[in-house]
Amino acid sequence: MTLTSTDPTSRRVRAVAESPTLVIDAKAKALCAEGEDVVGFGAGEPDFPTPPHVIRAAQAACADPRMHRYTPSAGLPELREAIARKTSRDSGLAVSADEVLVTNGGKHALFTAFQTLLDPGDEVLLPAPYWVSYPDQIRLAGGTVVALPTGAASSFRVSVDQLESARTARTKVLVFTSPSNPTGAVYPREDVAAIGRWAADAGIWVVTDEIYEHLVYGDARHVSMPVVVPELRDRCVVVNGVAKTYAMTGWRVGWSIAPLEVTKAANRLQSHLSSNVANVSQAAAVAALNGPLDEVAVMRATYDRRRRLTHERLSAVPGLDCPLPEGAFYAFPSCEGVLGRRIGGVRVTSSHELCAALLDSAKVALVPGEGFGAPGYFRLSYALGDDDLRRGLDRIADALA
Ligand code: GLU
Repeated sequence: MTLTSTDPTSRRVRAVAESPTLVIDAKAKALCAEGEDVVGFGAGEPDFPTPPHVIRAAQAACADPRMHRYTPSAGLPELREAIARKTSRDSGLAVSADEVLVTNGGKHALFTAFQTLLDPGDEVLLPAPYWVSYPDQIRLAGGTVVALPTGAASSFRVSVDQLESARTARTKVLVFTSPSNPTGAVYPREDVAAIGRWAADAGIWVVTDEIYEHLVYGDARHVSMPVVVPELRDRCVVVNGVAKTYAMTGWRVGWSIAPLEVTKAANRLQSHLSSNVANVSQAAAVAALNGPLDEVAVMRATYDRRRRLTHERLSAVPGLDCPLPEGAFYAFPSCEGVLGRRIGGVRVTSSHELCAALLDSAKVALVPGEGFGAPGYFRLSYALGDDDLRRGLDRIADALA
């Protein structure tokens, strides 16, 4: 048998680009390890340590032989119960523990949801700017991405009219994210209700990513779509996790909540893929979810302060246009006004080139808008320490002055 290609990898995986947020993060960390003084605005990752009571629960779990064994692939029963209780407490959605699937972070919950719901050719409506991993995950499941552009003029929110014009007989799923990564947009209750009712009437599934539910500022409030539109409940997958709320990105605990037959199907897949999430991490997540939200309130107040500072500083930079984010911990300015200029001796014509030039000359790591389906923008995470944040913002301002 003769091989016609020298690349042994599958077409499916060849078509996947590495996650741009993780690429930028790895690059910034590698430069720091080489002794470069880089301010990393790349991956969205809280700078806070995980709360002490969560650490103590993990330490106890390490010493418990039950935690040294396989557990059900869908998750520790006490964690599935804690997730059900937390969901009813925080968003008002009544959930039974057997509708919960514990996954290796929110990213894994999303991947599994698309694998479970999509057949080849199914179309997925994806409001843009979107989080970088959604399109690749949808395509890996055989789905077709139908991106719906939004801009600062519509506060980065998709409208029912836009959704309706994009709907076809093949539309299976809408991805809905509020608060949004990367824009920080938060949909008001009436918009969530209108979009949810439209999806329910059209018989479209909604995968709703609620990972930033607790990080909302000012008058913005998070509302869960299946709570405001109960008739959507049996065609909705809620995705969430402990990473952003409790500063637990590295512990890798997320989950999905879906109608029983979908959760059972997703668990069949998980039973061949990853089995249970590391039990020590699951025990830590139980402590986080059963514990108080006081530390979350402190972190939120800190992000709020950093959000205002970031917005104020970026708004003063000529060529940048930065709406005030209402949630999550990202700013998403337009940099159209900077394109065509020379930055650090290089003429930049795209947000991708601008971010490369700023990393090179100003030593700040930003994620270009291209990966979010929004060329002409860049994303900056303000979930980093105050000193780093100020230093990084000074560098951006100086480089673009
Ligand atoms: N969700 C975070 C971000 O967008 C973490 C990095 C990632 O997994 O993409 O930066």
